[in-house]
Amino acid sequence: MEPVSLVVGAVLVAVGFVAGRIGRRRPPAPPANPQPVCGCGHPLSQHDTGTNTCYAELRRDAYDKRGRWAGHTWVPCTCRQYVGPRPIDEVFVPRVLPPAD
Ligand SMILES: [Zn+2]
Ligand SMILES: [Zn+2]
Repeated sequence: MEPVSLVVGAVLVAVGFVAGRIGRRRPPAPPANPQPVCGCGHPLSQHDTGTNTCYAELRRDAYDKRGRWAGHTWVPCTCRQYVGPRPIDEVFVPRVLPPAD
């Protein structure tokens, strides 16, 4: 087999892995008890309330130069601000003062 064919085959395999991972990252949300999540896919509870950064870690498949699976690596989520829906009590804080008369 020609070297070029090997390269093409490796690329196709890599694309297949990536496509599979992307497809698995967004499962259909369960209709019951939907949890508000950020754009990064993590719930508000995974975000630091002070800095808004996400401290969840993502498990990535690692591959060596030959495209063979070489274990998992954990990388921090790159999210820097929670952009998903927030609980009502956090967004809407009326603080209605009674009339002072
Ligand atoms: Zn995140
Ligand atoms: Zn986030």
